[in-house]
Amino acid sequence: VRSLRKTYQSAGKTLTVLQDIDFTFDTGSTNAIIGPSGSGKTTLLGICAGLDRPTSGDVVLAGQELSRLSEDELAALRNRSVGFIFQNFQLMPSLTAVENVMVPLELRKDREARAKAMDLLDRVGLSDRSHHYPIQLSGGEQQRVALARAFSNQPTILFADEPTGNLDAETSDKVVQLLFGLNREVGTTLVLVTHNAELAAQTQRVIRIKGGRLV
Ligand code: ATP
Repeated sequence: VRSLRKTYQSAGKTLTVLQDIDFTFDTGSTNAIIGPSGSGKTTLLGICAGLDRPTSGDVVLAGQELSRLSEDELAALRNRSVGFIFQNFQLMPSLTAVENVMVPLELRKDREARAKAMDLLDRVGLSDRSHHYPIQLSGGEQQRVALARAFSNQPTILFADEPTGNLDAETSDKVVQLLFGLNREVGTTLVLVTHNAELAAQTQRVIRIKGGRLV
């Protein structure tokens, strides 16, 4: 992340949400981004993952300068290398749990993809909910489906916005184990935005932002 700056125009004023942000995540490392509500964590995560563009500065991900990529190239890079778990899950309402997990496997919509998705659902403890639609799942269950979906393409780097935010202690532990297991087993770089101090303490690196700046 190089000299990142993000501003929004709101009611005729320029709102600076991120400025002078520079850092590097080591490949295969575990990282937490922490900071007060409204400090710019979600915005930073979205830009790092190539879901949003900075006002200036750049992000280099998997050897590519994101600012040089077209929307299509960016989407292809995300599909290949990036997993993302959103704060509000963003499951597709018209698809069942197992179909949601299969979304990143779109090109292989076959028996193999379904078996893989079922295996992932099993790992998050939801094999008996595979045919439920998101509306038929609890908040924590939706979160675990989102997690299984993010794992399905074995991402090089996984960004998660409050991955334990809506979960009880037991489910939260399970999710944390899954995240760190992915890091250990496949070497996926983890970047977690969290208000959970215990979770942040388990990562190798903690990045704190306040008022849009790195502190
Ligand atoms: P939280 O911990 O509450 O989720 P956060 O640190 O993730 O907060 P962001 O969601 O990144 O914070 O928001 C940073 C700031 O940018 C906030 O003050 C927010 O109001 C503002 N903001 C976010 N999106 C927009 C937008 N599209 N237009 C204008 N302002 C925005």
